[in-house]
Amino acid sequence: MSVENVLSLIKEKNIEWVDFRFTDIGGISHHISVPAVEVDADTFVNGVAFDGSSIHGFKGIEESDMVMIPDTETIYEDAFTAHPTLIVYCNIYTPGGDRYDRDPRSIAERAEEYLQTTGIGTAAYFAPESEFFIFDNVQFENSMNKSSFEVDSEEAVWNTGRKEEGGNLGFKIGVKGGYFPVAPVDTQQDIRSEMCRLMMEAGLRIERHHHEVATAGQGEINFRFDTLTKTADNLMKYKYIIQNVARQYGKVATFMPKPLFGDNGSGMHVHQSIFNGDSPLFYEKGAYANLSEMAIHYVGGILHHAPALIAITNPSTNSFKRLVPGYEAPVNLVFAKGNRSAAVRIPIAAVTPKGCRIEFRTPDSTANPYLAFAAMLMAGLDGIKNKIDPRALGYGPFDKNIYELSDEEKAGIRSVPGTLDEALDALEADHEFLLQGEVFSQDFIDNYINLKRADAKAVAIRIHPYEYELYFNL
Ligand code: GLU
Ligand code: MG
Ligand code: MG
Repeated sequence: MSVENVLSLIKEKNIEWVDFRFTDIGGISHHISVPAVEVDADTFVNGVAFDGSSIHGFKGIEESDMVMIPDTETIYEDAFTAHPTLIVYCNIYTPGGDRYDRDPRSIAERAEEYLQTTGIGTAAYFAPESEFFIFDNVQFENSMNKSSFEVDSEEAVWNTGRKEEGGNLGFKIGVKGGYFPVAPVDTQQDIRSEMCRLMMEAGLRIERHHHEVATAGQGEINFRFDTLTKTADNLMKYKYIIQNVARQYGKVATFMPKPLFGDNGSGMHVHQSIFNGDSPLFYEKGAYANLSEMAIHYVGGILHHAPALIAITNPSTNSFKRLVPGYEAPVNLVFAKGNRSAAVRIPIAAVTPKGCRIEFRTPDSTANPYLAFAAMLMAGLDGIKNKIDPRALGYGPFDKNIYELSDEEKAGIRSVPGTLDEALDALEADHEFLLQGEVFSQDFIDNYINLKRADAKAVAIRIHPYEYELYFNL
Protein backbone atom coordinates (compact mmCIF):
# COMPACT_ATOMS: atom_id res chain seq x y z
CA MET A 1 0.00 0.00 0.00
CA SER A 2 1.40 3.43 -0.93
CA VAL A 3 1.82 6.17 1.67
CA GLU A 4 -1.01 8.16 0.01
CA ASN A 5 -3.28 5.15 0.31
CA VAL A 6 -2.43 4.76 3.99
CA LEU A 7 -3.21 8.44 4.61
CA SER A 8 -6.56 8.16 2.83
CA LEU A 9 -7.35 4.94 4.71
CA ILE A 10 -6.79 6.85 7.96
CA LYS A 11 -9.39 9.43 6.86
CA GLU A 12 -11.88 6.94 5.40
CA LYS A 13 -11.95 4.72 8.46
CA ASN A 14 -11.65 7.54 11.02
CA ILE A 15 -8.49 5.94 12.36
CA GLU A 16 -7.42 7.51 15.66
CA TRP A 17 -4.09 5.77 16.26
CA VAL A 18 -1.24 4.27 14.27
CA ASP A 19 0.59 1.53 16.12
CA PHE A 20 4.25 1.12 15.08
CA ARG A 21 5.59 -2.37 15.86
CA PHE A 22 8.79 -4.34 15.72
CA THR A 23 9.85 -7.80 16.91
CA ASP A 24 12.76 -8.20 19.31
CA ILE A 25 15.38 -10.98 19.16
CA GLY A 26 13.33 -13.29 21.38
CA GLY A 27 10.26 -12.87 19.13
CA ILE A 28 8.28 -10.49 21.33
CA SER A 29 6.32 -7.76 19.55
CA HIS A 30 6.75 -4.18 20.85
CA HIS A 31 4.72 -1.13 19.92
CA ILE A 32 4.44 2.65 20.11
CA SER A 33 1.10 4.32 19.34
CA VAL A 34 1.03 7.71 17.61
CA PRO A 35 -2.16 9.81 17.19
CA ALA A 36 -3.29 9.50 13.57
CA VAL A 37 -3.60 13.31 13.31
CA GLU A 38 0.17 13.53 13.89
CA VAL A 39 0.96 11.00 11.13
CA ASP A 40 1.85 12.39 7.70
CA ALA A 41 3.93 11.37 4.69
CA ASP A 42 7.13 12.30 6.56
CA THR A 43 6.39 9.82 9.35
CA PHE A 44 6.77 7.01 6.83
CA VAL A 45 10.16 8.33 5.70
CA ASN A 46 11.64 9.49 9.00
CA GLY A 47 10.02 6.86 11.21
CA VAL A 48 9.43 6.95 14.93
CA ALA A 49 12.24 7.25 17.49
CA PHE A 50 12.47 4.90 20.47
CA ASP A 51 14.87 3.92 23.23
CA GLY A 52 16.58 0.70 22.18
CA SER A 53 18.41 0.27 25.48
CA SER A 54 15.34 -1.11 27.21
CA ILE A 55 14.83 -3.85 24.62
CA HIS A 56 16.31 -7.18 25.77
CA GLY A 57 19.34 -7.99 23.62
CA PHE A 58 19.57 -4.63 21.83
CA LYS A 59 22.33 -2.10 22.30
CA GLY A 60 23.58 -0.70 25.62
CA ILE A 61 22.55 2.64 27.02
CA GLU A 62 25.27 4.61 25.18
CA GLU A 63 23.71 3.70 21.85
CA SER A 64 20.08 3.73 22.80
CA ASP A 65 18.56 6.08 20.19
CA MET A 66 16.92 4.08 17.45
CA VAL A 67 14.33 4.64 14.76
CA MET A 68 11.50 2.42 13.54
CA ILE A 69 10.73 2.94 9.86
CA PRO A 70 7.37 1.47 8.83
CA ASP A 71 6.82 -0.87 5.91
CA THR A 72 3.43 0.23 4.57
CA GLU A 73 2.91 -3.17 2.86
CA THR A 74 2.24 -4.62 6.31
CA ILE A 75 -0.62 -2.31 7.37
CA TYR A 76 -3.78 -3.81 8.90
CA GLU A 77 -6.48 -2.66 11.26
CA ASP A 78 -6.28 -3.75 14.88
CA ALA A 79 -9.37 -5.82 15.73
CA PHE A 80 -8.88 -5.56 19.48
CA THR A 81 -8.75 -1.85 20.30
CA ALA A 82 -11.77 0.27 21.27
CA HIS A 83 -10.21 3.18 19.36
CA PRO A 84 -9.78 2.55 15.61
CA THR A 85 -6.07 1.73 15.18
CA LEU A 86 -3.84 0.76 12.27
CA ILE A 87 -0.91 -1.56 12.93
CA VAL A 88 2.25 -1.30 10.84
CA TYR A 89 5.44 -3.37 11.12
CA CYS A 90 8.77 -1.55 11.01
CA ASN A 91 12.46 -2.06 10.37
CA ILE A 92 14.90 -0.65 12.88
CA TYR A 93 17.57 1.85 11.87
CA THR A 94 20.41 3.48 13.78
CA PRO A 95 20.34 7.29 14.02
CA GLY A 96 23.02 7.27 11.28
CA GLY A 97 20.48 5.76 8.89
CA ASP A 98 21.85 2.19 8.70
CA ARG A 99 19.70 -0.89 9.11
CA TYR A 100 20.35 -2.15 12.65
CA ASP A 101 22.24 -5.44 12.46
CA ARG A 102 20.39 -7.00 15.41
CA ASP A 103 16.92 -6.21 13.99
CA PRO A 104 15.35 -9.58 13.11
CA ARG A 105 13.17 -8.12 10.34
CA SER A 106 16.19 -6.52 8.69
CA ILE A 107 17.96 -9.90 8.84
CA ALA A 108 14.99 -11.49 7.06
CA GLU A 109 15.13 -8.86 4.32
CA ARG A 110 18.89 -9.28 3.97
CA ALA A 111 18.42 -13.06 3.55
CA GLU A 112 16.03 -12.41 0.65
CA GLU A 113 18.49 -9.98 -0.92
CA TYR A 114 21.29 -12.53 -0.49
CA LEU A 115 19.25 -15.18 -2.33
CA GLN A 116 19.04 -12.82 -5.31
CA THR A 117 22.77 -12.10 -5.30
CA THR A 118 23.57 -15.85 -5.43
CA GLY A 119 21.75 -16.09 -8.78
CA ILE A 120 20.11 -19.31 -7.52
CA GLY A 121 16.58 -17.91 -7.69
CA THR A 122 14.51 -14.77 -7.26
CA ALA A 123 12.29 -15.69 -4.33
CA ALA A 124 11.99 -18.21 -1.50
CA TYR A 125 8.51 -19.16 -0.34
CA PHE A 126 7.62 -20.18 3.20
CA ALA A 127 4.49 -21.59 4.83
CA PRO A 128 4.52 -22.37 8.57
CA GLU A 129 2.06 -24.67 10.33
CA SER A 130 2.10 -23.12 13.76
CA GLU A 131 0.25 -25.26 16.33
CA PHE A 132 -1.08 -23.92 19.61
CA PHE A 133 -3.11 -24.81 22.68
CA ILE A 134 -6.15 -22.95 23.93
CA PHE A 135 -6.63 -23.46 27.65
CA ASP A 136 -9.01 -22.09 30.15
CA ASN A 137 -7.25 -21.19 33.35
CA VAL A 138 -8.60 -24.01 35.49
CA GLN A 139 -7.76 -26.65 32.93
CA PHE A 140 -4.31 -25.17 32.62
CA GLU A 141 -3.63 -25.35 36.35
CA ASN A 142 -4.73 -28.96 36.51
CA SER A 143 -2.64 -29.86 33.51
CA MET A 144 0.43 -28.18 34.95
CA ASN A 145 0.17 -30.30 38.07
CA LYS A 146 -0.33 -33.42 36.06
CA SER A 147 2.44 -32.55 33.66
CA SER A 148 5.20 -32.75 36.21
CA PHE A 149 4.34 -35.81 38.23
CA GLU A 150 2.13 -38.49 36.86
CA VAL A 151 3.11 -39.72 33.47
CA ASP A 152 6.19 -41.63 32.61
CA SER A 153 5.75 -43.83 29.56
CA GLU A 154 5.34 -43.46 25.85
CA GLU A 155 1.96 -45.14 26.06
CA ALA A 156 0.87 -42.24 28.16
CA VAL A 157 0.14 -40.25 25.03
CA TRP A 158 -3.06 -42.24 24.74
CA ASN A 159 -3.85 -42.00 28.44
CA THR A 160 -2.95 -38.67 29.88
CA GLY A 161 -5.92 -36.44 30.13
CA ARG A 162 -8.01 -38.95 28.22
CA LYS A 163 -8.65 -40.83 31.45
CA GLU A 164 -10.92 -39.26 33.97
CA GLU A 165 -11.05 -39.75 37.69
CA GLY A 166 -13.46 -42.66 38.21
CA GLY A 167 -14.04 -43.01 34.43
CA ASN A 168 -16.90 -41.57 32.43
CA LEU A 169 -20.09 -43.17 33.71
CA GLY A 170 -22.24 -41.32 31.20
CA PHE A 171 -24.33 -38.15 31.14
CA LYS A 172 -21.42 -36.16 29.72
CA ILE A 173 -19.36 -35.95 26.57
CA GLY A 174 -16.36 -38.25 26.58
CA VAL A 175 -12.86 -36.85 26.43
CA LYS A 176 -11.25 -36.55 23.05
CA GLY A 177 -9.53 -39.51 21.47
CA GLY A 178 -7.88 -39.41 18.05
CA TYR A 179 -7.17 -36.54 15.74
CA PHE A 180 -10.05 -34.31 14.73
CA PRO A 181 -13.48 -35.51 15.82
CA VAL A 182 -16.35 -33.08 15.23
CA ALA A 183 -18.30 -31.15 17.88
CA PRO A 184 -19.35 -31.62 20.62
CA VAL A 185 -15.99 -33.29 21.27
CA ASP A 186 -14.24 -30.45 19.42
CA THR A 187 -15.32 -27.50 21.55
CA GLN A 188 -13.12 -24.95 19.75
CA GLN A 189 -14.70 -24.79 16.29
CA ASP A 190 -16.15 -21.32 16.78
CA ILE A 191 -13.12 -19.81 18.45
CA ARG A 192 -10.87 -21.00 15.58
CA SER A 193 -13.38 -19.71 12.99
CA GLU A 194 -13.39 -16.32 14.70
CA MET A 195 -9.57 -16.28 14.66
CA CYS A 196 -9.66 -17.06 10.93
CA ARG A 197 -12.22 -14.33 10.24
CA LEU A 198 -9.98 -11.72 11.82
CA MET A 199 -6.88 -13.10 10.10
CA MET A 200 -8.63 -12.76 6.73
CA GLU A 201 -9.54 -9.17 7.61
CA ALA A 202 -5.88 -8.60 8.43
CA GLY A 203 -4.92 -9.79 4.93
CA LEU A 204 -4.00 -13.46 5.48
CA ARG A 205 -5.35 -16.07 3.06
CA ILE A 206 -6.66 -18.91 5.19
CA GLU A 207 -6.51 -22.45 3.82
CA ARG A 208 -8.04 -24.43 6.69
CA HIS A 209 -8.30 -24.85 10.43
CA HIS A 210 -8.64 -27.98 12.55
CA HIS A 211 -8.25 -29.49 15.98
CA GLU A 212 -4.84 -31.09 16.50
CA VAL A 213 -3.82 -34.44 17.96
CA ALA A 214 -3.31 -33.47 21.61
CA THR A 215 -6.14 -33.95 24.06
CA ALA A 216 -6.71 -30.60 25.58
CA GLY A 217 -7.69 -28.05 22.99
CA GLN A 218 -4.80 -28.08 20.54
CA GLY A 219 -5.45 -26.31 17.25
CA GLU A 220 -3.85 -25.38 13.97
CA ILE A 221 -4.71 -22.80 11.33
CA ASN A 222 -2.98 -22.81 7.95
CA PHE A 223 -2.46 -19.66 5.94
CA ARG A 224 -1.13 -19.44 2.41
CA PHE A 225 2.59 -19.37 1.63
CA ASP A 226 4.35 -16.13 0.73
CA THR A 227 7.88 -14.75 0.46
CA LEU A 228 10.16 -14.90 3.51
CA THR A 229 9.69 -11.56 5.28
CA LYS A 230 6.00 -11.38 4.39
CA THR A 231 5.44 -14.83 5.87
CA ALA A 232 7.24 -13.82 9.07
CA ASP A 233 5.02 -10.69 9.24
CA ASN A 234 2.00 -12.92 8.69
CA LEU A 235 3.08 -15.19 11.53
CA MET A 236 3.32 -12.20 13.86
CA LYS A 237 -0.26 -11.24 12.85
CA TYR A 238 -1.32 -14.88 13.33
CA LYS A 239 0.01 -15.08 16.88
CA TYR A 240 -1.36 -11.66 17.85
CA ILE A 241 -4.84 -12.58 16.63
CA ILE A 242 -4.85 -16.06 18.19
CA GLN A 243 -3.76 -14.79 21.60
CA ASN A 244 -6.22 -11.91 21.62
CA VAL A 245 -9.24 -13.86 20.37
CA ALA A 246 -8.51 -16.44 23.08
CA ARG A 247 -8.49 -13.59 25.60
CA GLN A 248 -11.84 -12.29 24.32
CA TYR A 249 -13.25 -15.77 24.95
CA GLY A 250 -11.84 -15.72 28.49
CA LYS A 251 -9.16 -18.27 27.56
CA VAL A 252 -5.42 -18.28 27.03
CA ALA A 253 -3.60 -19.45 23.91
CA THR A 254 -0.01 -20.63 24.06
CA PHE A 255 2.59 -21.50 21.44
CA MET A 256 4.84 -23.09 24.04
CA PRO A 257 6.14 -26.28 22.37
CA LYS A 258 5.39 -28.70 25.21
CA PRO A 259 2.92 -27.37 27.76
CA LEU A 260 1.74 -30.88 28.76
CA PHE A 261 3.99 -33.79 29.64
CA GLY A 262 2.76 -37.02 28.07
CA ASP A 263 0.73 -35.43 25.27
CA ASN A 264 1.61 -34.08 21.83
CA GLY A 265 3.46 -30.81 21.71
CA SER A 266 3.07 -27.87 19.33
CA GLY A 267 5.37 -27.68 16.35
CA MET A 268 5.84 -25.20 13.57
CA HIS A 269 6.53 -27.26 10.47
CA VAL A 270 7.88 -24.98 7.77
CA HIS A 271 7.24 -25.66 4.07
CA GLN A 272 9.78 -24.02 1.76
CA SER A 273 10.71 -23.75 -1.91
CA ILE A 274 12.64 -21.51 -4.30
CA PHE A 275 11.39 -19.99 -7.54
CA ASN A 276 13.06 -18.20 -10.40
CA GLY A 277 10.40 -15.71 -11.48
CA ASP A 278 7.43 -17.94 -12.17
CA SER A 279 9.39 -21.19 -12.44
CA PRO A 280 9.52 -23.56 -9.48
CA LEU A 281 13.10 -24.81 -8.99
CA PHE A 282 12.39 -27.67 -6.59
CA TYR A 283 10.39 -29.82 -9.08
CA GLU A 284 11.72 -32.51 -11.37
CA LYS A 285 9.17 -34.92 -12.75
CA GLY A 286 10.01 -38.58 -12.18
CA ALA A 287 12.88 -38.00 -9.74
CA TYR A 288 12.66 -39.17 -6.10
CA ALA A 289 9.49 -37.48 -4.72
CA ASN A 290 9.68 -35.30 -7.89
CA LEU A 291 12.49 -33.33 -6.24
CA SER A 292 15.12 -31.55 -8.32
CA GLU A 293 18.80 -31.94 -7.43
CA MET A 294 18.66 -28.33 -6.23
CA ALA A 295 15.94 -29.24 -3.76
CA ILE A 296 17.89 -32.30 -2.59
CA HIS A 297 20.92 -30.10 -1.94
CA TYR A 298 18.73 -27.59 -0.09
CA VAL A 299 17.62 -30.50 2.13
CA GLY A 300 21.29 -31.46 2.51
CA GLY A 301 22.08 -27.96 3.78
CA ILE A 302 19.20 -28.04 6.27
CA LEU A 303 20.14 -31.48 7.65
CA HIS A 304 23.90 -30.87 7.68
CA HIS A 305 23.50 -27.60 9.60
CA ALA A 306 20.48 -28.80 11.63
CA PRO A 307 22.16 -28.98 15.07
CA ALA A 308 23.21 -25.31 14.76
CA LEU A 309 20.03 -24.26 12.95
CA ILE A 310 17.91 -25.72 15.73
CA ALA A 311 19.39 -23.16 18.16
CA ILE A 312 17.41 -20.62 16.10
CA THR A 313 14.37 -22.68 15.05
CA ASN A 314 13.88 -24.26 18.52
CA PRO A 315 15.32 -21.62 20.81
CA SER A 316 13.74 -22.39 24.19
CA THR A 317 14.52 -24.90 26.94
CA ASN A 318 10.95 -26.14 26.48
CA SER A 319 11.58 -26.82 22.76
CA PHE A 320 13.62 -29.89 23.68
CA LYS A 321 10.84 -31.37 25.80
CA ARG A 322 8.82 -31.59 22.56
CA LEU A 323 11.66 -33.18 20.56
CA VAL A 324 11.30 -36.64 22.13
CA PRO A 325 10.12 -39.88 20.48
CA GLY A 326 6.48 -40.86 20.35
CA TYR A 327 4.58 -37.63 19.78
CA GLU A 328 4.94 -36.96 16.03
CA ALA A 329 7.71 -34.46 16.70
CA PRO A 330 10.74 -35.39 14.62
CA VAL A 331 13.88 -36.42 16.46
CA ASN A 332 15.75 -37.99 13.56
CA LEU A 333 17.84 -35.95 11.18
CA VAL A 334 16.73 -37.64 7.97
CA PHE A 335 14.51 -36.87 5.01
CA ALA A 336 11.71 -38.94 3.57
CA LYS A 337 8.60 -38.87 1.39
CA GLY A 338 5.43 -38.45 3.37
CA ASN A 339 7.10 -39.86 6.53
CA ARG A 340 6.16 -37.76 9.54
CA SER A 341 8.88 -39.16 11.76
CA ALA A 342 11.59 -37.54 9.60
CA ALA A 343 12.95 -34.04 10.28
CA VAL A 344 12.48 -33.22 6.60
CA ARG A 345 9.36 -34.55 4.92
CA ILE A 346 8.60 -34.21 1.24
CA PRO A 347 4.83 -33.86 0.85
CA ILE A 348 3.69 -35.92 -2.14
CA ALA A 349 -0.12 -35.91 -1.94
CA ALA A 350 -1.73 -33.66 -4.58
CA VAL A 351 1.49 -31.76 -5.25
CA THR A 352 1.75 -29.71 -8.45
CA PRO A 353 5.11 -28.50 -9.88
CA LYS A 354 4.53 -25.10 -8.27
CA GLY A 355 3.47 -26.71 -4.99
CA CYS A 356 6.57 -28.92 -4.87
CA ARG A 357 8.35 -28.11 -1.61
CA ILE A 358 10.19 -29.50 1.37
CA GLU A 359 8.80 -29.45 4.93
CA PHE A 360 11.20 -28.99 7.84
CA ARG A 361 9.25 -30.37 10.82
CA THR A 362 11.62 -29.62 13.68
CA PRO A 363 10.92 -25.89 14.35
CA ASP A 364 8.45 -24.63 16.91
CA SER A 365 6.74 -21.30 17.46
CA THR A 366 9.07 -20.10 20.21
CA ALA A 367 11.32 -19.28 17.26
CA ASN A 368 11.49 -15.70 16.09
CA PRO A 369 10.05 -16.24 12.58
CA TYR A 370 12.27 -13.60 10.91
CA LEU A 371 15.41 -15.26 12.26
CA ALA A 372 14.19 -18.82 11.79
CA PHE A 373 13.13 -18.42 8.14
CA ALA A 374 16.32 -16.48 7.34
CA ALA A 375 18.49 -19.15 9.00
CA MET A 376 16.69 -22.01 7.19
CA LEU A 377 17.13 -20.26 3.86
CA MET A 378 20.84 -19.69 4.59
CA ALA A 379 21.33 -23.38 5.48
CA GLY A 380 19.47 -24.48 2.33
CA LEU A 381 21.41 -22.09 0.09
CA ASP A 382 24.66 -23.31 1.61
CA GLY A 383 23.56 -26.83 0.68
CA ILE A 384 22.85 -25.74 -2.91
CA LYS A 385 26.10 -23.78 -3.29
CA ASN A 386 28.24 -26.61 -1.91
CA LYS A 387 26.13 -29.42 -3.43
CA ILE A 388 25.70 -31.04 0.00
CA ASP A 389 24.20 -34.43 -0.89
CA PRO A 390 22.12 -35.77 2.02
CA ARG A 391 22.03 -39.23 0.39
CA ALA A 392 25.83 -39.51 0.50
CA LEU A 393 25.96 -38.30 4.10
CA GLY A 394 23.55 -40.85 5.59
CA TYR A 395 20.51 -38.60 5.91
CA GLY A 396 18.17 -40.88 3.96
CA PRO A 397 15.84 -41.05 2.20
CA PHE A 398 14.12 -43.14 4.88
CA ASP A 399 10.65 -44.15 3.89
CA LYS A 400 9.91 -46.43 6.86
CA ASN A 401 8.53 -45.26 10.17
CA ILE A 402 11.76 -44.59 12.00
CA TYR A 403 10.13 -45.13 15.37
CA GLU A 404 9.62 -48.76 14.31
CA LEU A 405 13.13 -49.54 13.02
CA SER A 406 15.32 -52.06 14.86
CA ASP A 407 18.30 -50.74 16.82
CA GLU A 408 20.60 -51.98 14.08
CA GLU A 409 18.66 -50.14 11.40
CA LYS A 410 18.64 -47.05 13.57
CA ALA A 411 22.42 -47.06 14.08
CA GLY A 412 23.95 -44.21 12.15
CA ILE A 413 20.83 -42.05 12.15
CA ARG A 414 21.68 -38.73 13.76
CA SER A 415 19.34 -37.09 16.26
CA VAL A 416 18.46 -33.52 17.02
CA PRO A 417 20.35 -31.93 19.96
CA GLY A 418 18.93 -32.98 23.32
CA THR A 419 19.03 -29.59 25.03
CA LEU A 420 19.17 -25.88 24.24
CA ASP A 421 22.77 -25.79 25.46
CA GLU A 422 23.75 -28.56 23.02
CA ALA A 423 22.13 -26.66 20.16
CA LEU A 424 23.95 -23.49 21.21
CA ASP A 425 27.26 -25.41 21.29
CA ALA A 426 26.51 -26.49 17.72
CA LEU A 427 25.72 -22.91 16.68
CA GLU A 428 28.95 -21.72 18.28
CA ALA A 429 30.88 -24.26 16.20
CA ASP A 430 28.91 -23.89 12.94
CA HIS A 431 27.64 -20.46 11.86
CA GLU A 432 29.73 -19.49 8.83
CA PHE A 433 26.74 -20.29 6.62
CA LEU A 434 24.74 -17.57 8.41
CA LEU A 435 27.42 -14.91 7.90
CA GLN A 436 27.36 -15.22 4.09
CA GLY A 437 26.33 -11.95 2.41
CA GLU A 438 26.45 -10.33 5.88
CA VAL A 439 22.92 -11.59 6.49
CA PHE A 440 23.71 -12.36 10.14
CA SER A 441 26.67 -10.58 11.75
CA GLN A 442 29.20 -12.22 14.07
CA ASP A 443 28.07 -9.73 16.73
CA PHE A 444 24.50 -10.91 16.31
CA ILE A 445 25.44 -14.59 16.67
CA ASP A 446 27.60 -13.97 19.78
CA ASN A 447 24.91 -11.84 21.38
CA TYR A 448 22.20 -14.39 20.48
CA ILE A 449 24.16 -17.26 22.04
CA ASN A 450 24.67 -15.23 25.24
CA LEU A 451 20.95 -14.39 25.49
CA LYS A 452 19.87 -18.00 25.04
CA ARG A 453 22.55 -19.39 27.36
CA ALA A 454 21.16 -17.07 30.01
CA ASP A 455 17.70 -18.65 29.54
CA ALA A 456 19.13 -22.15 29.79
CA LYS A 457 20.99 -21.24 32.96
CA ALA A 458 17.98 -19.51 34.52
CA VAL A 459 15.95 -22.69 34.05
CA ALA A 460 18.74 -25.03 35.17
CA ILE A 461 19.29 -23.30 38.51
CA ARG A 462 15.61 -23.45 39.47
CA ILE A 463 14.17 -26.33 41.45
CA HIS A 464 11.96 -28.53 39.28
CA PRO A 465 8.76 -29.94 40.86
CA TYR A 466 9.71 -33.46 39.79
CA GLU A 467 12.86 -33.21 41.93
CA TYR A 468 10.59 -33.39 44.98
CA GLU A 469 9.19 -36.66 43.64
CA LEU A 470 12.66 -38.09 43.13
CA TYR A 471 14.58 -36.70 46.08
CA PHE A 472 12.40 -35.32 48.83
CA ASN A 473 12.21 -38.50 50.84
CA LEU A 474 15.80 -39.62 50.48
N1 GLU B 1 2.16 -31.81 16.97
C1 GLU B 1 3.15 -32.49 16.20
C2 GLU B 1 4.52 -31.84 16.38
O1 GLU B 1 4.86 -31.58 17.47
C3 GLU B 1 2.81 -32.55 14.74
C4 GLU B 1 1.48 -33.12 14.37
C5 GLU B 1 1.26 -33.02 12.86
O2 GLU B 1 1.78 -33.86 12.14
O3 GLU B 1 0.65 -32.06 12.42
O4 GLU B 1 5.28 -31.57 15.51
MG1 MG C 1 -0.19 -30.16 12.72
MG1 MG D 1 3.02 -30.67 8.69
